[in-house]
Amino acid sequence: MDEANKRSRAYAHLSECNLCPRKCGVNRFETTGMCMIGAETAKVNVIAPHRGEEPCIQGFHGSGSVFFSGCNLRCVFCQNHDIAHQRNGFDLTPEELAEWYLKLQTVGNVHNINLVTPEHVVPQVALSILAARDMGLRIPIVYNTSAFDSLESLQLLDGLVDIYLPDFKVWRSSTSKRLLKAEDYTTTAMESIKEMHRQVGDLSFTSDGIAKKGVLLRHLVMPGKEDEGREIMRWLAENVSRDLYVHIMEQYHPDAHVGKKRRVTRQGRVGGGQETKEEVRYAEINRAVRDEELGSVKDAAVKAGLWRFCEPNEGQFHL
Ligand code: SF4
Repeated sequence: MDEANKRSRAYAHLSECNLCPRKCGVNRFETTGMCMIGAETAKVNVIAPHRGEEPCIQGFHGSGSVFFSGCNLRCVFCQNHDIAHQRNGFDLTPEELAEWYLKLQTVGNVHNINLVTPEHVVPQVALSILAARDMGLRIPIVYNTSAFDSLESLQLLDGLVDIYLPDFKVWRSSTSKRLLKAEDYTTTAMESIKEMHRQVGDLSFTSDGIAKKGVLLRHLVMPGKEDEGREIMRWLAENVSRDLYVHIMEQYHPDAHVGKKRRVTRQGRVGGGQETKEEVRYAEINRAVRDEELGSVKDAAVKAGLWRFCEPNEGQFHL
């Protein structure tokens, strides 16, 4: 798709939005869908060099991160919920975003532009990358996503994104329905990750160990869900690539709605009166991940034939 075509497709998507599997069908120039964000601008919460990513992404000077407000998922354990589930932040046009990318490149001296939670603002993002290229942007673009993307939006990004950084969160539809509020998450993530890999391939690096192009796949191991993590590893090895670069993450902690108390009133069994009890929400994931759960996902990944793993504590070189 050439640049002019990309521009017109970007605007067309916003007039009847099917940019993600929610397929709200709304005209975002007039109203908003589930992601709560309109058409002319993207809402951004933070723009700054960031050192909280994988060593090959943050490098020596940091990753130029742009945290978008809003999200098309509703993960009950979201560790960015103050940004993702609320409309906090400032509105930027694609041209203003492009100017920020240039500032990150020239003033911040960062290794890449890292677009965090961009699934619901892909047209604005595509337009911003085209504008930034015209202004002289040279560093790689990282698309940092939950993988709840539509194929249409990924086609819009084809040729504009250098590094895809997708999560593959859970395996079972019942889990995604309960914990992400999206029943079709897994099938969507499978298609999206295959398309990302088709576009950019396995991850490659510069001579000093900084990610240059390809897919870096993340999986956050969840308490009691290690069997789902094992399935994900097997599927990736068999259907995407055994040379896929994978980060099996261990930093899950209860957040957002998990562990919050709520009062529940039910009809009592005796005498017909009502009983009020206090319950902990999502109690099954209200704890840290155990070492044996993490270990079983890592073992399954190795057994499936995966071998390129991100080990954040091992220093800078991850070739
Ligand atoms: S991007 Fe937003 S408006 Fe468009 S389909 Fe997804 S949730 Fe709905």
